[in-house]
Amino acid sequence: MTRVLVINSGSSSLKLQILDTAVEGELAWALVERISESVGTLTVRRSDLTGAPAEERTAEAEFPDHTAALGRVLELAEELHVHPTDLEVEAIGHRVVHGGPAFHEPIEVTPEVEADIEELEVLAPLHNPANLRGIRVARELLPGLPHVAVFDTGFFHTLPAAAHTYAIDRETATKWDLRRYGFHGTSHEFVSRRTADILGRPYGEINQIVLHLGNGASASAIDGGRAMDTSMGLTPLEGLVMGTRPGDLDPGLIIHLIRDRGMSPEDVSTLLNRRSGLEGLSGARDFRELLARVDDGDVDATLAYDVVIHRLRRYIGGYWAVLGDVDAITFTAGVGENVARLRADALATLRGWGVEIDTEANENGTGERIISAPGSRVTVLVVPTDEELAIARACDEVLGLGK
Ligand code: ADP
Repeated sequence: MTRVLVINSGSSSLKLQILDTAVEGELAWALVERISESVGTLTVRRSDLTGAPAEERTAEAEFPDHTAALGRVLELAEELHVHPTDLEVEAIGHRVVHGGPAFHEPIEVTPEVEADIEELEVLAPLHNPANLRGIRVARELLPGLPHVAVFDTGFFHTLPAAAHTYAIDRETATKWDLRRYGFHGTSHEFVSRRTADILGRPYGEINQIVLHLGNGASASAIDGGRAMDTSMGLTPLEGLVMGTRPGDLDPGLIIHLIRDRGMSPEDVSTLLNRRSGLEGLSGARDFRELLARVDDGDVDATLAYDVVIHRLRRYIGGYWAVLGDVDAITFTAGVGENVARLRADALATLRGWGVEIDTEANENGTGERIISAPGSRVTVLVVPTDEELAIARACDEVLGLGK
């Protein structure tokens, strides 16, 4: 049995989970939102897997920084007897979005590793500083436990050069490490391994397309466990249409906005990270809200939905061609796991390619399941992702804890 505290630190939020890798369940969970705003919210929850009844504490207060937020979480965790010490946590796993060219595998955090992650901030200014803040605060408040960094880019370090190379001047690209890195790797690996298990086939022998569709969205093409392509690139902006990000667009558009339309690079960053995708097209970044508006006949929401589906089809078809043949297509994350209509629409044109959806399984089933018809040549699945469990397992492996 290994117990791991997994921390996902964002710029204004902190998500924590204590997991037991043996029972693969969550013992405790905490979320702090709106850190550094005048009123922040905090929830700490104990699960009944601890042996005690489930219980929750919430607080509304100002959390000026991540140190204050984590400090308060630990106080409430102590009251609920789910402090890492009470639960005999052996390691702390941190999600780090960008591993850059240096980090492929999960690694125990040392002062040198911290410094190297800090150097990567230039490649991921919206994510890595927040992840690093989480690492620093946790090392300060929870010393004496090993801390492990797990990188979202890790699974994609095996991308073939043809897939990760941007067709720009090589000298410039090399000088600044400009290439496609890919993100959500922990999820793509977790889901693709699980898919192989469900199919009862060796991971190394099947070709898969994985569609991770949440607020952020990405697709991957995986050949025998090796990632051959993925839709996100140097940053998590490329690829599929997302909640607030556009995915693929002509880079000429950015030059045009800055050079000819007077927008600053900061304005463009805000446009592309916060005011694009579903939000930009329809004003609804949340897929549930988008679907409600589609059903009401809202023109903007309908166009947004159509753009999402069109882009998905382009990626699925493209990845099919990259792989040559496909054994499984798997949907995961908030939208992928919950929106039957989107799954059916994304694959609707692929009947001739051997993809046949079982309408009943797609629309009425829940949780992990096969949603293709028994006769479908390609198996289509829904597999809920669990990045925290994957991070906990990675800690186990790096530190050799479970042995
Ligand atoms: P992230 O981890 O990237 O923040 P999630 O994987 O939690 O995102 O996915 C969030 C998205 O999933 C939101 O757009 C949300 O509306 C959508 N979603 C979650 N549950 C449902 C549901 N039952 N029906 C439709 N959409 C859902």
